[in-house]
This record gives sequence, structure tokens and C-alpha cells, in this order.
Amino acid sequence: MNLNKLTAHEIHKLLVKKEISCEEVVSEIFNVIEEKEKRIHAYLSLTKEKALLEAKTIDEKIKRGEALLPLEGIPIAIKDNIVICGEPTTCASRILENFISPYDATVIKRLKKNGLIFMGKTNMDEFAFGSSTENSYFGPTHNPYDLQRVPGGSSGGSAAAVAAGEATLALGSDTGGSIRQPAAFCGVVGLKPTYGRVSRFGLVAFASSLDQIGPITKDVTDSAFLLNIIGGYDPLDSTSVDVPLPDFTKSLISEIKGLKIGLPREYFVSGIEQEVGEYVKKSVKLLEERGAEIEEISLPHTDYGIATYYVIATAEASANLARFDGVRYGYRSKNSKTLAELYENSRAEGFGAEAKRRIMLGTYVLSAGYYDAYYLKGQRVRTLMREDFEKAFKKVDVILTPTSPSTAFKIGERMEDPLKMYLSDVFTISANLAGIPGISIPCGFSKEKLPIGLQILAPAFCEEKIFQLAFTLESTYQC
Ligand code: GLN
Repeated sequence: MNLNKLTAHEIHKLLVKKEISCEEVVSEIFNVIEEKEKRIHAYLSLTKEKALLEAKTIDEKIKRGEALLPLEGIPIAIKDNIVICGEPTTCASRILENFISPYDATVIKRLKKNGLIFMGKTNMDEFAFGSSTENSYFGPTHNPYDLQRVPGGSSGGSAAAVAAGEATLALGSDTGGSIRQPAAFCGVVGLKPTYGRVSRFGLVAFASSLDQIGPITKDVTDSAFLLNIIGGYDPLDSTSVDVPLPDFTKSLISEIKGLKIGLPREYFVSGIEQEVGEYVKKSVKLLEERGAEIEEISLPHTDYGIATYYVIATAEASANLARFDGVRYGYRSKNSKTLAELYENSRAEGFGAEAKRRIMLGTYVLSAGYYDAYYLKGQRVRTLMREDFEKAFKKVDVILTPTSPSTAFKIGERMEDPLKMYLSDVFTISANLAGIPGISIPCGFSKEKLPIGLQILAPAFCEEKIFQLAFTLESTYQC
């Protein structure tokens, strides 16, 4: 049996039946890591010894006949911008190369309480700035489906780890698409929950009004189980929302009769690869056959999404990155004579090119005289975009779109042209600007055998609808 290929719920059943041990699962996945990492580079650090010890403890529990929680003993990989006490958190940046976290993020505390096993921290674009994981100080991650191609980004290490069988589950973070787009490129399921659903305490901030942590999994069922654990109010994050946390696994029903699905006109235009459009349309047909009602809708401010996002996200990033100054923690330049020089040199040597570009852009749009023209205007357009969704959701229950206009592109192909790179996020960023949840699920393969992703969006705090439709689609593909 290939234990590394199993989903979490499959592993759980076998553990309960005592057909496999937790130690076998964890060791097999570390064997896969050893075999594949030279080529894929999904991880920045591993926690093998601790993981094997924990696996033994869980096996003893099983032997004693104690009940297992749904994800107890399941191996999980964590994006390297989420802190685990005593482990490195580099954000794939030189500036945090030697940083060891003194505390746990809230999501990590919750995973520990539920007995999940940490395999290691995954590669990413530096500070989550990017769509390809090429902006990592430690070198790029490669797509398991084609090593010449990117895994997407910025949670590329997490998506590649799950796709390659180097982890059963993973956590990523999504500010403008960083869970959904890599999930699409690597043929796995990636969910960005509603803003405020999952605590951001212990997530190194990129753009605080847009960031969310979410699950990257092999299937929709695992995604629901993982959100059950990481979701919910946290007094340590003032933006986390105190609303009831449903049991998301109850929404895993293959029934969508009468569900109203909107297709935004603006998302099915030129610029998307033909095969991507074709596969998404095939799925729409399948859903119609299963009794869904399909309706064309309009999100008229879609065209302003990229510009608005890159004003707001860089403004917030420039403020958040001000704390990395070489004084309190992280990289410190050795050749400075004055305090000002220490700041300048530490930041000049510690940040990579994309981080610098964003700090400069963000500082510019926030500066006196330009604030009204850029940042304030950006916030206004953001409101219009949110209203577009509110209007649309009066007519339909969910919205269906491609996740990305293209399949995984070649490593190096977009590095010289930041604008082209930014355009890869055109279908994902509006969900962050509006604060609504979105999932990417695999819906087919291109002729080049590259995965294609389909995105489902729902109103804020309606992840249940997403799970219902995603689960139905997943079961329909399998028929
Ligand atoms: N690709 C987008 C960016 O570079 C989104 C990144 C993210 O979601 N963290 O900003």
C-alpha cells in the first residue's frame, strides 16, 4: 500500500482498524521526502525525530484502545510563515534565516491539541510575495507534475508537498490567491476561508486586511476536517470573527438540485488558456445535468482588481515589513557604523528583489500627497468590488470560475516581467478584497498533463456551500 498517497480520512480508517500504524505512515512519508526532495524542494526544514516520537505515542494510544480524533496522527506540512514554538520560521527570507519562534500560532496550538504530526516547514515566495515560489531566498520549488515548471505560489511548497506525497495535509496562507493558485497548479484542493474565520495570530503578516490561513489537501473531505480544527474565534486576533463554527463535514453531501451557480461574464474572456476554459465549462455542464441552475452574472469592477490589490497589499506590506530592521531579531548587517546604516544595510542585504519592490511601491502609495490618489482610491474601489459580490449573491448561491488563467508555467518564464506575474492572480484576488471564501479543486488535465483548477466562491461565512458543491463535483468526476 502506498501510504503516502492516501487521504487523511483513509489513513484514519486504517489506523482505527489497526491495519496500519502511525509510525508506518510517518516513516513512509519521510522516505518519500528523502527520495524526492532533491528534485522538488518543497521543504525548508524537517522535524523528523519529533514526528516519529509523536507517531509512537499515538500508536500506543491505539493499542490501549483509546478513540482517535479525526485527524490524530495525520502528517501535516506547515508553510514557513506560520510559527511553531522552537522551530525556524524564515518566510523564505534571508532576513529571518536564523529566526526560531518562541511561541505557537493559534492554528498550530489547535493542530497540536488534535494530535496532528508536523513534518516540517514548507518553501514559499519570500514573505508570500509571488505566484511561483521562485522568490524564495532558498531557491524555487518544482512542480511534481513537471519539474521544469513552477508549483504556483506563494504556498508552492505546501501544494507540492501534498501533491508529491511528501505530506498528507498542509497549511498555506492566501492574500491574493496563494493557496488556491498553487493548489490548481499542483492538482490538489486549496481553500481560502472567509476573512476572520481562521485566526491569523502567529502568521507573519503580509497584508493584514487580506491574509487568511487555509488547508491544502488531497480531497474536499480532508479540507472540511482540517477547517473544523483550525477555524473559530480567537481573542488573540482582533479580526477573527465570533460566529458559530459549523461541522463542515456535514456539508459533504453529493446533492445540488436547485443550487444556483453564477458564472461571471468578466471571468470567461480572452486571456485564459483554451483548455482551462473548456474544462471549467465541462464541469458546468456536469452540474447542470445534476440539477444545478446556471446563470450568467456580472462583476463589473473585476478589471480594477489587480491594480487595487497591488496598491492595498503593498501599502500594508510596507508597513508590516518595517519591523525587520536588524535590531531585535533576524539578519543583522555586520558592516555598519551608525544606527541608520545598520537599518539600511540589514534591510538592503536581508530582503530579496520582490520584497524591495513591494516596500518601495507600498511606501510610495502611502506617502503624503499620493495617499488620496492611490491608497484611498484603492479602498474605495475595494468597496465597489465587495458590493459587486453582494449584488451577485442576491441572485446566486455560489460563483464558479477558473482558478488561474493558465496551467503551471515554466520556471524562469515570468521572472523578468513582474506585471505578467501579477496578472496570474486575476481570478483569485477579488475574493481577498471582498473577504469571501474560495476553494480551488482539480477539474482535469491539459494535453501536457498539467492539472487544471476550478474555483468556487461563496458569500462570507458560507464555506458550507463551497464544500457541498466541491464535494458533488469531486464525486461526479470520479463516476
Ligand atoms: N500572488 C499574489 C502576490 O504576489 C498573492 C500572494 C499571496 O496570496 N500571498 O501578492
